[in-house]
Amino acid sequence: MEFYDVAIIGLGPAGSILARFLDSRYRVIAIDKKCGEEGGFQKPCGGLISSEAQKVLASFDLPLPKELLVDPQIFAVKTIDLKSRLIQHYQRCYINLDRHKFDLWLESLIPSGVEIHSHAVCKQIKRDKSGFAVTYSENGDIDTIHAKYLVGADGANSLVRRTFFPNKKIRQYLAIQQWFTETHQNPFYSCIFDPETTDCCAWSISKDRQFIYGGAFPAKHAKERFERQKQKLEKIGFRFGKPLKTEACLVLRPFAPWEFCCGEDNVFLIGEAAGFVSPSSLEGISSALVSAKGLSSVLNSGSGNLNRRYWVGTMGLRMKLFLKMLKCPFMYRPFLRRLVMKSGLQSIKMK
Ligand SMILES: Cc1cc2nc3c(=O)[nH]c(=O)nc-3n(C[C@H](O)[C@H](O)[C@H](O)COP(=O)(O)OP(=O)(O)OC[C@H]3O[C@@H](n4cnc5c(N)ncnc54)[C@H](O)[C@@H]3O)c2cc1C
Repeated sequence: MEFYDVAIIGLGPAGSILARFLDSRYRVIAIDKKCGEEGGFQKPCGGLISSEAQKVLASFDLPLPKELLVDPQIFAVKTIDLKSRLIQHYQRCYINLDRHKFDLWLESLIPSGVEIHSHAVCKQIKRDKSGFAVTYSENGDIDTIHAKYLVGADGANSLVRRTFFPNKKIRQYLAIQQWFTETHQNPFYSCIFDPETTDCCAWSISKDRQFIYGGAFPAKHAKERFERQKQKLEKIGFRFGKPLKTEACLVLRPFAPWEFCCGEDNVFLIGEAAGFVSPSSLEGISSALVSAKGLSSVLNSGSGNLNRRYWVGTMGLRMKLFLKMLKCPFMYRPFLRRLVMKSGLQSIKMK
């Protein structure tokens, strides 16, 4: 029987940053279903690093290698209200990158003392007298390890959250993205609002001569809604053609502060597993990084009620996300959105 101090489920941005910053006195195992090869699991994502995430990476002293970047870098988002056909451009300083490479790069920064199991899927977790028994499959074999602390860094559909906090519900959507060959004359980003198909938003991103169109839709009839919105966009000049790839996954969109779940009794949730995603933009990488670093500091100190200290430590993050909840009506209520867009406030005048 193998015993560890900490078992981390998931090595997206949250899990990798936690594994990087945990003290070397801990025996740590990290289990993740991704692998470096083509064809393996890749997180569907826009791959845009917000200025908040850039600031967090800067505070970790982690400069991005240029190999992660894609072409082009764009500094405005074309915001479209589909029903009224209002369009405004807003300045955004995103870094446009290859999300899968970004995940693999973060994973490469984990110290060699951490035992990483990539391409391994966590199947079941139970409490036992050592703390937790974690069962996972790897290369067709099933193994069980034991750990004192359990960290759910396993994203929107977190097995850890579903196992230990099944009653902690959080608003969720099905995110669908399709990739096309880029045929627009000028590459662009867009953010699309269309209440007829979704009360959330959709987006498009040009990336290395490809064009990604995606959106977050209520699970019921999500694919039909996606296709309907695509048809509407074609009428205003979007060009799609034959999809090169279609991907889908859950995305969380917290509606109220009580939907966040940081964990209890030596179970800790970080990143999207905790619900730390912006309800206004669905941006989640910055919150994944911040919550992971926060948990590493709490575990490294090793004193007091660790769950309580982690909960207190995420107060600032939860407050920031709560403020974004308050911003939502101005983006998502058609009347208010149109008022804001028509006012031209903070928009860029396109030449
Ligand atoms: C379509 C889409 C577009 C998005 N675009 C952006 C964007 O442009 N910018 C931005 O900041 N945010 C974006 N987000 C949100 C962002 O992707 C997430 O908030 C962020 O990835 C959360 O990081 P995380 O580490 O918490 O979880 P994840 O990145 O989801 O990582 C979870 C990890 O857990 C692993 N895992 C899950 N279950 C298991 C299991 N049972 N066994 C083993 N491993 C497991 C997965 O392999 C994965 O590596 C987008 C989300 C979606 C859905």
